[in-house]
Amino acid sequence: MFNYDKIKTVQLELTMSCNAACPQCARNVNGIEIPNLPKTSWTIDKIKSCFSKEFIEQLDLIYFCGSHGDPFMCVDFLDIAKYFTECNPKIKIGVHTNGSLRSTKFYEECAKTIDFIAFAIDGLEDTNHLYRKNCKWTKIIDNASAFINAGGHAEWDYVVFKHNQHQVNEAKQVSERLGFKNFNVKKTSRFLNYNHELVDYYDTSDGHKIYPPTDAKYLNKAYDKLKSTNLQEYKKQTCISCNSLRIREIYISADGYIFPCGWLSDRVYQTTVLGTNDNIKILEQIKKFPSNIFKASIKEIVNGEWFKYIKNSWTNNNRLDRCAIMCGSGINIIGEQNTDVSYKI
Ligand code: SF4
Ligand code: SF4
Repeated sequence: MFNYDKIKTVQLELTMSCNAACPQCARNVNGIEIPNLPKTSWTIDKIKSCFSKEFIEQLDLIYFCGSHGDPFMCVDFLDIAKYFTECNPKIKIGVHTNGSLRSTKFYEECAKTIDFIAFAIDGLEDTNHLYRKNCKWTKIIDNASAFINAGGHAEWDYVVFKHNQHQVNEAKQVSERLGFKNFNVKKTSRFLNYNHELVDYYDTSDGHKIYPPTDAKYLNKAYDKLKSTNLQEYKKQTCISCNSLRIREIYISADGYIFPCGWLSDRVYQTTVLGTNDNIKILEQIKKFPSNIFKASIKEIVNGEWFKYIKNSWTNNNRLDRCAIMCGSGINIIGEQNTDVSYKI
């Protein structure tokens, strides 16, 4: 059962804005931004009114990531991070970013407050922008170096595709030379698209195609199992073991909705899932029950009917496809993605 008193980690989506256009991101369809995304951001005033000192004190970790935006697009980022450490000096603060936003001075400031930054850098200067559209490699490296040289703990997350698989070893060497603490090879799960169909490639906004790696050692091992499984039956039958319940985490979106995880948040706006059973069920529930932090407290939401609905759905006819796919016991697509990631889910 979800229980407010037991929450130890929060993933907070600080904003639904981003400078990049990664073709597999929930904010895009093939790199073209979805029109219905509320491009809202947290402000320091909203944070102070929604996150009590008592709640922050019970947390071990807050990390700024999110399904629809890059946390460094949030104007009040540093004030928000400082507020969390003022309320709980022991809390760990993490950030996941494309690294191409803001100045080196900003990253030096971050090193004083942030416990780690995971930089999503999928290649070298000639390849990173093929997936991380609009992200300038030299700027990312300058920013990451500024953070590291100011004492910051930096992780390098490298999603392997066909177009960058030949550079994994070289990028690892660059990461070591620059002083990254870890180089995390990610075997992408994203060729299972938002509708849970395996696709051979993704189109990008400028007419290119993005392919999964061809080198077997970088391919997500779950794909083979997915190909040989009747997914319609699997989604109905697999036993669901909720990752968020296990690690005592909740997800809070930039527009205030609370979910157990970001995997449910990407069922709300992504246009390729509008009208699916998951999308319809989730919208019904979040309208019916307290689910938004601007209208109810975190405690009321997590201990309330919305979270009970999700928990009960795993063993009744209302189960969400997303829960079966992401946390079903038969196929571990996220676990396979992160086998080499230092901060594994
Ligand atoms: S950098 Fe992150 S938030 Fe921005 S488009 Fe890429 S995946 Fe999405
Ligand atoms: S997808 Fe469902 S089962 Fe998995 S973490 Fe999210 S709420 Fe839990």
